Amino acid sequence: MHVMDSSSRLAQRITNLKSSATLALTAKVKALNAAGADVIGFAAGEPDFDTPEHIKQAAIDALNAGQTHYMPVPGDPAARQAIADKLRNDNAINCGPDDIVITTGGKHAIYLALQCLVDADRGAQVLVPTPAWLSYRPMIELAGGEVIEIPGSVDNDFKITAQQLQDAITDRSVAIIINSPSNPCGTMYSPDELRELATVIERCPQLTVISDEIYEKLIFGGVDHFSIGSVQAIADRVITINGLSKAYAMTGWRIGYACAPAPAPGIDRVMAKAIARLQGQMTSHITSFCYAAIVEALTNAADDVERMRQEFARRAVIIHERLTAMPGIRCPKPTGAFYVFPDISATFGKRSGGGRLIDSAMSFAEALLEEANVAVVPGDDFGGCGAHHVRLSFACSEQHIEEGCRRIHRWIEALT
Ligand code: PLP
Repeated sequence: MHVMDSSSRLAQRITNLKSSATLALTAKVKALNAAGADVIGFAAGEPDFDTPEHIKQAAIDALNAGQTHYMPVPGDPAARQAIADKLRNDNAINCGPDDIVITTGGKHAIYLALQCLVDADRGAQVLVPTPAWLSYRPMIELAGGEVIEIPGSVDNDFKITAQQLQDAITDRSVAIIINSPSNPCGTMYSPDELRELATVIERCPQLTVISDEIYEKLIFGGVDHFSIGSVQAIADRVITINGLSKAYAMTGWRIGYACAPAPAPGIDRVMAKAIARLQGQMTSHITSFCYAAIVEALTNAADDVERMRQEFARRAVIIHERLTAMPGIRCPKPTGAFYVFPDISATFGKRSGGGRLIDSAMSFAEALLEEANVAVVPGDDFGGCGAHHVRLSFACSEQHIEEGCRRIHRWIEALT
């Protein structure tokens, strides 16, 4: 009998699909430490805090009360109401519960939105300011779209300008993904900068904005968070993405949402309905007893968010000071999320203490892990200038940050 190579049975879209480099590195660090190594990991993309007790309790109570059956596809009406209230109060987005679809993490909300927007047959292009989160590219490509990078630079805190956006738009551009605060950059757009981008977007009616605001609550650099969906002139073309993962230390719960308001009262909510229709054929909805946790988190957990935010703020200062004290390292000040993205290209062309040639972010990260027992994420896959950078997450203790930075400093000083 002829045995087929199992990979030849895979669809092309899966053969071409990369797995997440950050998840792989996080798993490698865990495995090394489980085997007795003493690796300091700066790779994790999740808060190191536990979900607040009262949020857990809300889900436990809902479970005990029998909320274990199918629910409406876009989500429980009370949870959607709580999200719409939050978006109106915190973000000045004019929306109601029918504009909201609750999804399996912010990630699936973005995936669904892209599937609803991108038509491969029409050569659809999606604009992505880079460096950008690793998952945007595969999600755009899975939808059949072409990624058009708009490169930011370290000199401008990795932000693009209105002129750059204008120059990148073609008649095939269907969407732009804006992520402020940014993973991996740790920087944010100011309200005025976003208003300028909105002015360009207003002139291009074919363009939808996917505004990924998952790190909205973790800000500490004096820049206010601004939701581009609050700009009235483009509000019905902005899909605001958010979720509970980062602000409430709830990554494993898988709770996110998309808000896609109708153009005017009484006009059909085409986008929110499309996203829900697609979700209805994929996951149906999130786990039923988790809806109660959404209401609890959004109405009663401001103190918990503030406690965690202050902790991240302290760590941001420490890690930035330590990194910029290292020879040749340039690092914009982190203002949001829990990442720093230093430019390490001054080390390229040198040799490590262990004799390795450092000629890329990848070789820097590999040598650092093997010789100094510190894990950082090479920036190559984030696009744009990322190939000159590495990402460090400071979702870890101050002690961990101090020790990790000591090791990196010593290792860099030994380069020749
Ligand atoms: N957007 C960005 C920029 C992220 O970094 C992440 C998670 O790492 C997400 C969205 C999605 O998070 P979740 O699916 O846990 O809501």
